[in-house]
Amino acid sequence: RAKEAGRGGHAFFERFMFEQAEDHRLLEQDVREALGGNGLALAYQPIIDSESGEVVAREALLRWRHPKRGDIPPDQFIPIIEDAGLIHQIGDWVIREACAEAARWSGDMRVAVNISAAQLTGAGLAKTVLGALAATRLEPSRLELEVTESVFLGDDAATLASLERLRALGVRLVLDDFGKGYSSFGYLSRAHFSKIKIDQSFVRGAAEGAKDCVAIVHAILALARGLGVETTAEGVETEEQAIAMRQLGCTQLQGFHFGRPVPSAELYETVRRPRRRRA
Ligand code: C2E
Ligand code: MG
Ligand code: MG
Ligand code: MG
Repeated sequence: RAKEAGRGGHAFFERFMFEQAEDHRLLEQDVREALGGNGLALAYQPIIDSESGEVVAREALLRWRHPKRGDIPPDQFIPIIEDAGLIHQIGDWVIREACAEAARWSGDMRVAVNISAAQLTGAGLAKTVLGALAATRLEPSRLELEVTESVFLGDDAATLASLERLRALGVRLVLDDFGKGYSSFGYLSRAHFSKIKIDQSFVRGAAEGAKDCVAIVHAILALARGLGVETTAEGVETEEQAIAMRQLGCTQLQGFHFGRPVPSAELYETVRRPRRRRA
């Protein structure tokens, strides 16, 4: 069939590939520059206790404001960072930055940091985490590291060893986006997770009363209770979804309904405002 497409199609394809590669290369350069300047930042989204309604944690989400292209979503630029071999460097910065931020928060508020599969390779991550905890004096139990099941698709033994080293530091491991991919209950017995995050697709479906979604959420929550782990419903956008997930027994809720990810400065705005007033 490729032959039938003729020379025109082939040339178009090559041109397309070239442009993709060229674009990729340019973005790679840009991200290197951003790393040196202020182009990269973290935004924080609240995670709410479904009983008390209090904010119990905040998830740090990486943001890149490109000078010309505007905001580029992490799903798009993280693969570029990984290809450029910069994920360790940027990932380490994210961990240190998030720990420093959380150390300023009152009480036992936790911070959640996303870790990609590529970051788990090599022995350096535990050292970075240990260094960040020591430098900021953040209690290890206040740091949550979120991984998706994709970490289990590569070198299993190395991944498990890496996760175990992290857990031994006293930080909490969280299984992100559960239900989204091939999510197997088996993953939950591979590493000791402290929390399971239920993917937004099930939250939406369950709130609408879709029988399959309700059944799956029930099963995940029963499993979580049996394992003694917390659960967070992701992507809660409406009051109805919040009520549904709470009634089903989800222990924490997160989503635009409770708050969007915001720059750290905005977390303190309500506290700072009175101080700006001059008599
Ligand atoms: P995630 O860890 O599952 O993060 C949740 C994503 O859902 C975030 O997208 C968040 O902004 C979005 N979200 C939160 N509430 C709602 C809602 O109510 N509705 C909808 N539609 N979306 C909601 P974001 O910030 O674009 O991040 C996408 C993914 O990129 C993250 O998914 C995470 O896997 C990855 N990521 C983000 N920051 C980092 C980082 O610092 N390091 C690594 N390795 N990955 C990161
Ligand atoms: Mg996450
Ligand atoms: Mg998620
Ligand atoms: Mg995700």
